[in-house]
Amino acid sequence: MRYATLAEAFEKLEHTPSYLKKNSVIVELLKRTPAEGMERVILLLLGRPWPAYISKETGVGLQQLKKAVAKAAGYSVAEVDKLMKQVGDLGEVAKQLLEKKRQTTLSVEQLTVKKVFENVKQLPEITGEGSVDRKIASIAELLTSSTPIEAKFIVRTVIGDLRIGVAEGRLRDAIASAFGVKPGVIEHAYMLTTDYSIVAKAVATSGEKGLEKLGVAVGHPVNPMLAQRAETIDEVLERMKGKAAFETKLDGIRVQVHKDGDKISLFTRRMEDYTKMFPDVIGPLRQALKPKRAIVDGELVAIDKRTGKPMPFQEVLKRRRKYEIKQTIEQIPVEIHLFDVLMSDGNVMLDEPYVERRKMLERIIREAKGKVMMTEQRVLSKPDEIKEFMSKSIEIGHEGLLAKDLEASYRAGRREFVWLKLKPMLETLDLVVVGGLYGKGKRAGFFGSYVLAARDEESGRYKTVTKCGSGYTDEELKEFTKIFKKLQLKKPHPDVDIEIDCHAYFEPRIVFETYFEEIQKSPKLKHTSRFGLRFPRLVRIREDRRAEEANTIKDVADLYERQQKRKAKV
Ligand code: AMP
Repeated sequence: MRYATLAEAFEKLEHTPSYLKKNSVIVELLKRTPAEGMERVILLLLGRPWPAYISKETGVGLQQLKKAVAKAAGYSVAEVDKLMKQVGDLGEVAKQLLEKKRQTTLSVEQLTVKKVFENVKQLPEITGEGSVDRKIASIAELLTSSTPIEAKFIVRTVIGDLRIGVAEGRLRDAIASAFGVKPGVIEHAYMLTTDYSIVAKAVATSGEKGLEKLGVAVGHPVNPMLAQRAETIDEVLERMKGKAAFETKLDGIRVQVHKDGDKISLFTRRMEDYTKMFPDVIGPLRQALKPKRAIVDGELVAIDKRTGKPMPFQEVLKRRRKYEIKQTIEQIPVEIHLFDVLMSDGNVMLDEPYVERRKMLERIIREAKGKVMMTEQRVLSKPDEIKEFMSKSIEIGHEGLLAKDLEASYRAGRREFVWLKLKPMLETLDLVVVGGLYGKGKRAGFFGSYVLAARDEESGRYKTVTKCGSGYTDEELKEFTKIFKKLQLKKPHPDVDIEIDCHAYFEPRIVFETYFEEIQKSPKLKHTSRFGLRFPRLVRIREDRRAEEANTIKDVADLYERQQKRKAKV
């Protein structure tokens, strides 16, 4: 397949803000893609020649890339620099320079997707003496054979910023319509493999049957199972038919541990590779996991060694860093608490009931106190005992309890009523920030309040729920203003329905966990979701949540219903 076909689709995607139109461009592209080249096309659509969970960079700096562009277009680096200052995007610069290319190349070979994919994929592997020049030569080789539009997207791919607005979530629907399969089936296959390139290749090659063969594999993170919220112990017991496994709810970083021989990898909820950030638990995990190959699920928490109490969530977050890891290990030592097993040697455990998975977990873990432990668990049915366990957990400083249905399978990527979180806290919602208003007085010059939205699951659109101007420290407001300036748009994002006049509109990317006292109905002309929050307050930024994972309008409506029922009881 010619790379030009892909680059032309990218160009269309860049200039098509609408969700539906973008979808049809991708569907057309996938229909034209031969099965054999499907993986490459999907990965390049997502911007990198390797899946998102592999933390790799091309290792090519902007300066080197400028040299490659200059070389291919027959201009000096100074000329590239000059245009770069005007245009601000090296991809666009490459396109413009190639359009008026001075050098005439003798034979122009047509670029294939395969050639571009392989050259870019090889870049991180080029190391050692003279590697900078060899990298430049490899990119220049592509650019010399490129059309201007091809050059634009090759450059952006190497930089790692494709700017065509295609997030992973979009691919589910596009792959489903391109191959005539239900979106749910595609989603399930994705939950197991976390890689749309594998899913698309399988369905392109053998249809729905091909998807059935896909399964979990060590080294490929599985989408983690999530929990619903319960209001009361009675509700938990009712939903779990009188008895459940109760576990401490630890407030840390969810990690999936993959063991493949001696190799241990840690993946987060968003399938990022965190292995390098936590070298202090890698050795202990290697020792603790008895099987040769396994996938287990757990939470990384920071415990204050003096008091034995968990440190606040913000402390564990400080461990997410690329530099000065050693010093931070001493300041914030972490331990890992394991609570589930997805695979152990030849046994895939996803379809086993939770009791069996827990038994297996107990068999395969050699606990190392203060490093690798099993989450504390009690199988309980009496409300008093549950209450006591809950108070004990909270006293220690944990968030509450997680109740788990003993018979439930591991539902990858799903948030169902078979895992229920029980927190004493007041309600919170995870909402997406879509607009901002400047503050006054001390807060002048900074955004002082934000407009928050919930996602309509059916249309994929974000609809506003509240304007939230409290819960921030002055420091935070300054910091947030910096973050949001980068996401600022001239008018509301095309996926956002908003009636409130804001000073600024943002790309719907950042999620605020927001506390509130009550949900109210709201006129559509105020809040497009038709719900509003009373006394909203920011709890924290949910850095571990993507906008697509924020609470939906259905969640808001469900909470509203529950609240009305509770009120009726009083
Ligand atoms: P939430 O993030 O509020 O939806 O709560 C679910 C999260 O609680 C999971 O993703 C885990 O990170 C965390 N968690 C803490 N303790 C447990 C546990 N014992 N079992 C499962 N998840 C837990």
